[in-house]
Amino acid sequence: MEKGETFIAGVVPPRNHLKPPLWFAFHDSKLLVHSNASSVAIPCLPDLNQLSLEIKTRHYLGQLGERPCYAVGLDEDTLPPPGMAFVALRRLYGQVCETLFQIAGRAVQIVEWDRTNRFCSRCGNPLHLRSTERAKECDHCGLLNFPRLSPAIIVLVERGQELLLARAHHFPPGLYSVIAGFVEPGETLETAVVREVQEEVGLSIGKIRYFGSQPWPFPDSLMIGFTATYQGGQIALEDGEIEDAGWFRADNLPMIPGKISIARRLIDRFVEKQKHYAGDDVK
Ligand SMILES: [Zn+2]
Repeated sequence: MEKGETFIAGVVPPRNHLKPPLWFAFHDSKLLVHSNASSVAIPCLPDLNQLSLEIKTRHYLGQLGERPCYAVGLDEDTLPPPGMAFVALRRLYGQVCETLFQIAGRAVQIVEWDRTNRFCSRCGNPLHLRSTERAKECDHCGLLNFPRLSPAIIVLVERGQELLLARAHHFPPGLYSVIAGFVEPGETLETAVVREVQEEVGLSIGKIRYFGSQPWPFPDSLMIGFTATYQGGQIALEDGEIEDAGWFRADNLPMIPGKISIARRLIDRFVEKQKHYAGDDVK
């Protein structure tokens, strides 16, 4: 892709296009890429059939500059053609630009939604894709089915010059992160933030501020980030999900998540703010 090209989402493919499409083809949630020792690249060619693959489904995603982008579901028995490989999406991070990474995340969610929603959940008849919106419809009973998103909040809690970090049982050894959890039916995002912090570490918080959001296609989350300040309570690990939690200063952090995540963006911003207070930025 050329620098600065923006992605514009769409459902109806264009009749004509100036440049060959980009193909985001998945096998078992892994993306097909050209691969050598030093780099990976998304296939870009007039027709993916040129690679003699078993294509099961194809979805137009939108346009990146003058290139149409397609999500493709491949047959389970597909092997990568010579010079190509299937890579897990997390491994792709940092190897392609942010825009391509985001389109790949969108693509895998569409392919998986299509693969796992073939029949109506109300009457059991086959669903078919609608041509003008990202939805499936049951001809028999009219049920509409949209790609599922699971919203989750993630919150950095500050107490003066310290931030709250916790580690869940399933984290890699030594890794700590900020508090996160899924939004429950009927909750606002702010209510979910307060509840998760109370449930996971027993603390009350205030001054909840929106920070930003991030699609998280592992498999279908949308992370909605917040900052908050400590108001009261002692750390208490009661719900069994958290193994350890504590207050940390910016200059004494444990192992934290990689740059792929909004958790890291929240922590980096806190660290920057502390440097600012310490006057490091004017030295
Ligand atoms: Zn139905």
